[in-house]
Amino acid sequence: MTDLWPAIADPLLVERLRAVVARDVAPHAAEIDRVDAYPLDVVRSLAREGFNAITVPKEYGGGGRSILDCVAVFEEVGYASGATATSLITIFQTAEVLNLFANETLKRRHLPRIAEGLVCSYAMTEAAHGSDVKHLDTKARRDGEGWVLDGEKSFVTSASKAELFVILAETEKGVTAFAVPRDTPGARTYESGSSATFGLRNGPHVNLELKNARIPLDHLVGEEGHGVRAAATTLDHSRVLAAAISIGIARAAVDGALTFARERVAFGKHVVEFQGIQWYLADLLAEIDAARLLTYDAAKHLDAGREIERTSSEAKLLASRVAVHAASQAVQICGAWGCIESAPFGRYLRDAKTYEIAGGSSEILRNTIGKFLQGTLASKPAAPPAAAIAEAAKG
Ligand SMILES: Cc1cc2nc3c(=O)[nH]c(=O)nc-3n(C[C@H](O)[C@H](O)[C@H](O)COP(=O)(O)OP(=O)(O)OC[C@H]3O[C@@H](n4cnc5c(N)ncnc54)[C@H](O)[C@@H]3O)c2cc1C
Repeated sequence: MTDLWPAIADPLLVERLRAVVARDVAPHAAEIDRVDAYPLDVVRSLAREGFNAITVPKEYGGGGRSILDCVAVFEEVGYASGATATSLITIFQTAEVLNLFANETLKRRHLPRIAEGLVCSYAMTEAAHGSDVKHLDTKARRDGEGWVLDGEKSFVTSASKAELFVILAETEKGVTAFAVPRDTPGARTYESGSSATFGLRNGPHVNLELKNARIPLDHLVGEEGHGVRAAATTLDHSRVLAAAISIGIARAAVDGALTFARERVAFGKHVVEFQGIQWYLADLLAEIDAARLLTYDAAKHLDAGREIERTSSEAKLLASRVAVHAASQAVQICGAWGCIESAPFGRYLRDAKTYEIAGGSSEILRNTIGKFLQGTLASKPAAPPAAAIAEAAKG
């Protein structure tokens, strides 16, 4: 039901995306979720279409397109398969951190391969450190002409098939980002008790163990001790894309519910004719439109080179909440038929809920918006309560 959701990015790109996604992604979505295996063929076919590295500069083999267009990629792929879109997001994160922070050697080595379909993972989380990555148990030390890494990462999305990892580890100067090829001696992935998740099932979110793993000096990404900044900047960007995935899921849930409600008859009427059902749908359209506009607006800020901690956090916070609501209401509208295993609504609900946590939980996003607010207010001395109320009353 594409006419409900007109293109906001380049309309020709969106038209092509919708055709490619309907042909190459949608037919496999239920199976990817059911078997929980990395969708390698699907991801490679998207790479052939130029979607995996759409924002990577052309000089490194990418599409050289805007984040606005990239949002469309994630919205449309997310519409068909949250798990496939999640596979693309770890590729985007790796490409983005390399493009923004890495030295020329690393960029020239990896960015063209990413454009060709290299699978990548972005590993910050450890068993004892999730939201808080300012202190890590994974350590890195200089040793002659290289770095030696020791530690373990968990919940590493796409890592069952990733060839390249960007990880965070602590050096004596603080948290630092490193590029770690899969075949690094001392690096291995394995499935742990936390690997299988109920949502965003693009293969097990395996652990990455680093035992005396040696990488060359030039595999440092950015400056030593500046890894948190690199991670935060990259996350600001990828949060906009996570928001786009949530919008895709929400749209799919509403389209599915609407199709059902137009067919299903109860009390001699099509279900969609009941005003109560129309109100559910009206609320969802308003919520999705608002989240969509906010997300594309955040992309425009990014393209303009503005700091977007606030808008990217707001976009992900709102879009993930809207997606959970949309998936839940879609089940409600479809009644028992929405609950059956072969219907897609359970997948939408599980994927949507998982995005309230993965890539920055809703609480951490609220903290970021709160910090922005404090920063803005710091420049204005607070008035005593009575004076502040009198001032506000003047309008
Ligand atoms: C499907 C999936 C895929 C993932 N993929 C990756 C990946 O590829 N790479 C990676 O590095 N990580 C990944 N993660 C991990 C994810 O980023 C973390 O789960 C997330 O950052 C939250 O960390 P945590 O689960 O350890 O929660 P914790 O940090 O332990 O927090 C527990 C709860 O407390 C809240 N909380 C924590 N601190 C605060 C605070 N200061 N104020 C208010 N509330 C707070 C949290 O929001 C949460 O509700 C993935 C997670 C999932 C579920």
